[in-house]
Amino acid sequence: MIKKRLKSDIKKKVVRYAKLLGISDYKFEVDIVLPSKIKKKDKISGSYATVYVDEETRTADIELNKKLLLESPKELDSTIAHELLHVRFNELDEFVHFLIKTYVKDEKARKTYRNQMELLEHKNIIALIELVIKSGKLN
Ligand SMILES: [Zn+2]
Repeated sequence: MIKKRLKSDIKKKVVRYAKLLGISDYKFEVDIVLPSKIKKKDKISGSYATVYVDEETRTADIELNKKLLLESPKELDSTIAHELLHVRFNELDEFVHFLIKTYVKDEKARKTYRNQMELLEHKNIIALIELVIKSGKLN
């Protein structure tokens, strides 16, 4: 029961923040999952949440770590914003990955460029979250 209520509250926030970020054309799913279910593909933001984006179906599935969600609810707003910014950057991300895959033959160089892209994306995400928090629009 509590989980259902929490999920629906989070979904409302997701829809509202998505509107602020101009990505309302995606269909969002929210899931609260056990920590072990969160894939650690995101080295920088840790394991509070993860997002899977599908441009073809225009869907974004956000998975939130149940344990961290209950332990640090204060992080929820910036976490949602963080994952939604990954959605915002996803087309750019896919384009850069396509370029790397197409034009970089050396596997080690590919890895370096992919890591650099991820780092730069997070720099932008962190800066934008600072800005949005200062604007008082997250709550
Ligand atoms: Zn991230």
